[in-house]
Amino acid sequence: MSQIKRILVAGGAGFLGSRICEELVAQGHDVICVDNFFTSQKTNVVDLLPKPNFEVIRHDIIHPLWLEVDEIYNMACPAAPGHYQFNPIKTMKTSVMGSINLLGMAKRCRAKYLYASTSEIYGDPEVHPQPETYRGSVNTLGIRACYDEGKRAGETLCMDYHRMNGVQVRIVRIFNTYGPRMHPYDGRVISNFIRQAFTGEPITIYGDGSQTRSFCYRDDLVRGILKMMASDQVGPINIGNPKEFSIRQLAELVVKLTGSKSEIIYTDLPADDPKQRQPDITLAKKHLAWEPTTQLEEGLKQTIDWFKTIDLSQYRPPTP
Ligand code: NAD
Ligand code: UDP
Repeated sequence: MSQIKRILVAGGAGFLGSRICEELVAQGHDVICVDNFFTSQKTNVVDLLPKPNFEVIRHDIIHPLWLEVDEIYNMACPAAPGHYQFNPIKTMKTSVMGSINLLGMAKRCRAKYLYASTSEIYGDPEVHPQPETYRGSVNTLGIRACYDEGKRAGETLCMDYHRMNGVQVRIVRIFNTYGPRMHPYDGRVISNFIRQAFTGEPITIYGDGSQTRSFCYRDDLVRGILKMMASDQVGPINIGNPKEFSIRQLAELVVKLTGSKSEIIYTDLPADDPKQRQPDITLAKKHLAWEPTTQLEEGLKQTIDWFKTIDLSQYRPPTP
């Protein structure tokens, strides 16, 4: 086995962070999960708790934290619109103050630092698909800006710590990702549609459903993130699945796979909702030898199977 490292995963109890923790623990690393449990459940990491190379610290990254580590994955931030708009000022603080605290730790420990940025930094894109060179089209005044602009500032801080202090940073821009352990009430399209299909509620398409997204299965995404950390690339590098679907196509696929009797209804489109989104993954293929392998139908089946195992009443909406 390669050298054992002490690794901090901030947001390590979340949908993606918990999967990263699982992989790193399985590789034998000493993993510290730091989370304030704003949008996650302890059940996401409960299976890891008995392992001697895993520990959890309840902590909010907007406050400084003193640990000795070799690598830091900064996954901590509410990611779904309903979650990040719940307290937009806190969302911005998490991205900015949280990044400063963890980059400061990376500087002090000479640790590698991976930042989970997002396709949202492209805003409602005028360039399609989106390459990393595209600078984006974000409404700085809109209701999504707390997240988009926070992440843009997080990227800027990475580059400033890199240039000024030589911190080894890795920036990934993550596109819409789904899979087991998504929060069933996060308001994101896949969790909404599957939950609605199971409970018999109407499936809510916002707008006319012609807007598109490109959905990446969780395990493909996490494989890309681990490759990025192990690489010599600063980034940013897009990680996502380039296969694009309209929201209407997605609704029809969920109905087919669940055999649901739910009706599909059309409601208002939220403000600043991007019309299209598709990653250009040329750089990930070239520098990380990475590309997704899970088709949407297969990934949805895995996700639907996981939804069958959970008790929806155990999931609560976020609290401040
Ligand atoms: P998630 O909400 O499941 O995970 C985020 C985790 O961070 C949660 O466990 C939450 O409790 C924790 N957290 C939030 N604020 C915190 C704070 N101030 N201090 C400590 N912990 C805090 O979301 P996710 O989908 O797993 O996203 C993980 C990261 O990936 C986020 O940074 C998100 O912006 C980014 N991302 C995700 C997607 C996606 O489609 N899932 C897309 C683009 C980017
Ligand atoms: N959406 C929808 N119905 C829902 C939830 C979302 O039609 O119940 C749409 C939403 O308007 C957007 C797309 O699905 O166009 C993806 O939304 P999500 O919140 O999952 O991700 P994001 O907008 O951040 O990409």
